[in-house]
Amino acid sequence: MYRIGLGYDIHQLTTGRDLIIGGVKITHEKGLLGHSDADVLIHAIIDGMLGALALTDIGTLFPDTDKKYKDADSTVLLGKVYEKIRQKGYTINNIDSNIIAQEPKMMPYIPKMKEVLCKILEMKHEDLSIKAKTNEKMDAVGQKLAIEAHSVVLLKKV
Ligand SMILES: [Zn+2]
Repeated sequence: MYRIGLGYDIHQLTTGRDLIIGGVKITHEKGLLGHSDADVLIHAIIDGMLGALALTDIGTLFPDTDKKYKDADSTVLLGKVYEKIRQKGYTINNIDSNIIAQEPKMMPYIPKMKEVLCKILEMKHEDLSIKAKTNEKMDAVGQKLAIEAHSVVLLKKV
């Protein structure tokens, strides 16, 4: 049996923050604003995983009113959500995702992101797709005010 989930996230870019996407620190003069480390890709993947089993969403599970999640490492949150999925008897069949950023270039960091995420999610590299594109200078993302991410997650009953 298979279950599919859709995830989306967006964070504002701001000075004085590290840019962390897919569990990887990216060299850039700005970072993403958020209660946790604001890892937009991991948040989109978490919401895809939770959505596949109708287990609410990241904001419900890890509320930004909870001090425990201040500057939280999103790879840790991802591990917790993966554990939830496993407890329900599911594993991940495959994930497809998009990072949408006008800058910086994501491509050089994608192999490392795959390494980090595949390890946490016990997946093969060929089952995790991370694609990157710009927003053709349009809207908040295109004007370098924000970075967004989308994911589709397919779970498989073990
Ligand atoms: Zn987020």
